[in-house]
Amino acid sequence: MDVVSTRSGARRIPALQAVLEGIAGDGGLFVPVEFPRLDSGALLRDHRAGYAHVATAVLDAFFDVGRSTLHPLVSAAYAGFGDDAVAPLRALGDGTRVMELFHGPTLAFKDMALQILPRLFRVALEKFDRKDDALILTATSGDTGKAALEGFRNVPRTAVYVFYPEDGVAEMQRLQMATQRGGNVGVCAVKGNFDDAQAGVKRLFADRAFAAEAGRAGKFLSSANSINIGRLVPQIAYYCNAYAKLVDDGVVRYGDGVNFAVPTGNFGNILAAHYAKAMGLPVARLICASNSNNVLTDFFNQGRYDARRTFHKTMSPSMDILASSNLERLLHEICGRDHDVVRGWMRALSEKGVFDIPAAAREKLSGEFYADFCDEGETAAAIRRTYETDGYLIDPHTAVGVRVHQKYRERTGDDAPTVVASTANPYKFTPDVLASLTGETEDDAFEAAAKLAEYTGGAVPECIAELKRLPVLHDRVAEKDRLDEAARNFLLKIS
Ligand SMILES: *Cc1c(COP(=O)(O)O)cnc(C)c1O
Repeated sequence: MDVVSTRSGARRIPALQAVLEGIAGDGGLFVPVEFPRLDSGALLRDHRAGYAHVATAVLDAFFDVGRSTLHPLVSAAYAGFGDDAVAPLRALGDGTRVMELFHGPTLAFKDMALQILPRLFRVALEKFDRKDDALILTATSGDTGKAALEGFRNVPRTAVYVFYPEDGVAEMQRLQMATQRGGNVGVCAVKGNFDDAQAGVKRLFADRAFAAEAGRAGKFLSSANSINIGRLVPQIAYYCNAYAKLVDDGVVRYGDGVNFAVPTGNFGNILAAHYAKAMGLPVARLICASNSNNVLTDFFNQGRYDARRTFHKTMSPSMDILASSNLERLLHEICGRDHDVVRGWMRALSEKGVFDIPAAAREKLSGEFYADFCDEGETAAAIRRTYETDGYLIDPHTAVGVRVHQKYRERTGDDAPTVVASTANPYKFTPDVLASLTGETEDDAFEAAAKLAEYTGGAVPECIAELKRLPVLHDRVAEKDRLDEAARNFLLKIS
């Protein structure tokens, strides 16, 4: 499968090559020239054979290296997951299914793709006969950073450097990154929010002097953010797998519509669901759930993307984002793949902080997407209520998805089978989860973890408990306009 940039159709390259490049040279994102078709019979067979078979089939539709290369890679990626089903579904009392995407090594859904991505890199470096090595620069709102560090740790011919907002991640998320081991990894806190970190990384990609320096050191720049098509493709698989599971369980017959509710920040996870639908998966509604940073809610409801608003720090920090990168891929489709139109919108966004789409385009989107948000009080109430009614503990990001889906049901009366994406293990966010459940304030994340385990009769995951004992290996902090200094320093270190 070939891909092109959202901003120009001039250069067509294989999707696997785009994995190495990360972002297109013109600042756009790589998108497939067409969507492959899903084979429903094969999907059901693959589902019964196991998650790795579903994921292999999806990857095979985009990356032309053959299933015999992909299957072992995919199997190895998911072998260490904490649940044999990889992405199991749990049924709540009201019939809603929760799709648990957090059974990977860093306890967030980012592992679903970031355990695959480094393996794709190795295949791609060989296939395209690259002599230079990858220097992967990544901005994180909390979970991508750790998942990228863990995925690329000690992977030959790669190095990864992560920027996270200094005061914008949960304590457990920060410690997961600061204690990261590995000879090819680095971490830097940024004095700013996630949007500052993401903008800084984008500037680094556009900085020719930095790219030249990296080149002299035998490195090319790439990204592990969801702007990388190699992040998106593995995420399509779990939507297909969940649908097949519902068919197998007799909840739907193949062809019946299923809704997916997705707690959203950078629009990567929900875009993968949209791609699954574009490939033919019978998806009815996609419910785009935001926290108080509700720029996407307004976009879908009003047809105007307006980033000129207050940035809120919430208990779902991985969704504290106002510049939602992957939306550009959806915009590319709604304007009929007109590169000039996308470029115009993106220019307006960067120059004025706002752009409008035509009413007809908004109408079209509203058939597929429903968007809403919930505030901190509603998020806390959703955590408490889900625990009280179902005995089931959810994290604050998942709680946003659960609550917004409830609001959707109340407002529309649509009771089609729905799967809510659960994006993180609640033990990553212990003070907020504990406070939501019991009202108790406990600022120490480890104390809060112990209390949460006691209250729920659960256990603190070992990879969380051990953070207390591990030495902090990364403590660099950069001003938001000086990310280049930190990146140069890292380049020296690994050269
Ligand atoms: C990254 C993340 C999200 C948001 O996903 P996007 O792909 O950025 O929309 C939601 N929840 C958690 C826990 C995350 O880590």
